[in-house]
Amino acid sequence: RHAAKIKLDGGKEGKNRTKDKSDRATSELVMDDRTRVILYKMIQQNHISGIHGAISTGKEANVYNATLEPEDDDAPPIQRAIKIYKTSILVFKDREKYVTGEHRFNSASKGNNLRKVKQWAEKEFRNLKRLRAAGIPCPEPLLLKSHVLLMEFLGDKRGYAYPKLREATFSQESQEGSENPWRPLYIQLLGLMRKLYQVCKLVHADLSEYNILYHDNKLYIIDVSQSVEHDHPRALEFLRIDIKNVGDFFRRMGVDTLQDRTIFDFIIS
Ligand code: ADP
Ligand code: MN
Repeated sequence: RHAAKIKLDGGKEGKNRTKDKSDRATSELVMDDRTRVILYKMIQQNHISGIHGAISTGKEANVYNATLEPEDDDAPPIQRAIKIYKTSILVFKDREKYVTGEHRFNSASKGNNLRKVKQWAEKEFRNLKRLRAAGIPCPEPLLLKSHVLLMEFLGDKRGYAYPKLREATFSQESQEGSENPWRPLYIQLLGLMRKLYQVCKLVHADLSEYNILYHDNKLYIIDVSQSVEHDHPRALEFLRIDIKNVGDFFRRMGVDTLQDRTIFDFIIS
């Protein structure tokens, strides 16, 4: 019933979709044979039915929109996201600092690229689970095969991903109010950062308006493959950077932000 064919068709036209041939070429390039086999198996085992446009083509990973045909033929396809870590390029030097100090990775991290990429994928999978367990909004991790992570799609039924926080727009009503609509989101985010630290015992370590999605007054944390344990030797250094990035963004949005120091104390105590 399900075509054993990987459709890389660029999906529907529009926002957050593959828009031109050059984009498409990029996304096809990273489909090496190993990745292709993993995706075929995911289709055969009915985790997904097809893969559509690239939502994002990044330095370290590509994210695709996939769908799963539901049992009930009348129901709309179930949306999924697939993050495929790149195995080919030397993007690992950059990330080594996140691994150093985490003894359980040290011995394994001396391997080849694929081994390292698998570690990043595994780490993201595990960290997403931890966030979910703590009730922090993020994609539910569904399946991990090597460097390919299948997760819940954060977006609408048609396959349009929620915007990044930096692209968030607000309804007329919320703009007419006297309060800056960004302020409650700022407060919400500080709460999430504290929970991440206190409950998950993690520091995101790449937190910014790019790694937070926004929908319906709610923030979703994504991209946690580089997140570190709270007792990592550089955890507090990374936390300060996260706090600074978040503060810089909300200040640009006109929010009267708290001092970084105050936020730091709020998060760690
Ligand atoms: P990168 O390492 O390339 O930054 P991210 O995990 O941040 O990878 O994902 C890149 C982009 O893909 C995100 O900014 C977001 O727009 C989109 N994205 C990632 N995960 C999902 C998801 N589960 N649902 C919808 N969109 C997603
Ligand atoms: Mn990202």
